[in-house]
Amino acid sequence: MITNTDCRTEAGITVGLVDAIITAARVLVARDLSPSAVREALADLRQDEDVAALLAAEAAVSAACKEEVWSWDHFRDSQVDGYWIRCSLTGPHLEHEDSHTGLTWPALVTA
Ligand SMILES: [Zn+2]
Repeated sequence: MITNTDCRTEAGITVGLVDAIITAARVLVARDLSPSAVREALADLRQDEDVAALLAAEAAVSAACKEEVWSWDHFRDSQVDGYWIRCSLTGPHLEHEDSHTGLTWPALVTA
């Protein structure tokens, strides 16, 4: 995938760090991984909580709920411009929720 993220922005710095991990993996895979010390280090990598959290974070974002409600249906008296409020939850849930406003609305159950 090719992206054009400005490397000076927060997202750009994060992309650079992820790219550094990918680059390290690309170099490592061609090296001799058989010495016991290397195998121990690889086992540590497999069990590392931060590595697991990084891989899980992408999956969680992909599973984010896409449900939206129109703000005027809930906050018309207190604002001028309407906007779409998106549910902030991931995974299955019976009630949608926006973490910014605290608004909740029922999830429609489809058979
Ligand atoms: Zn939702």
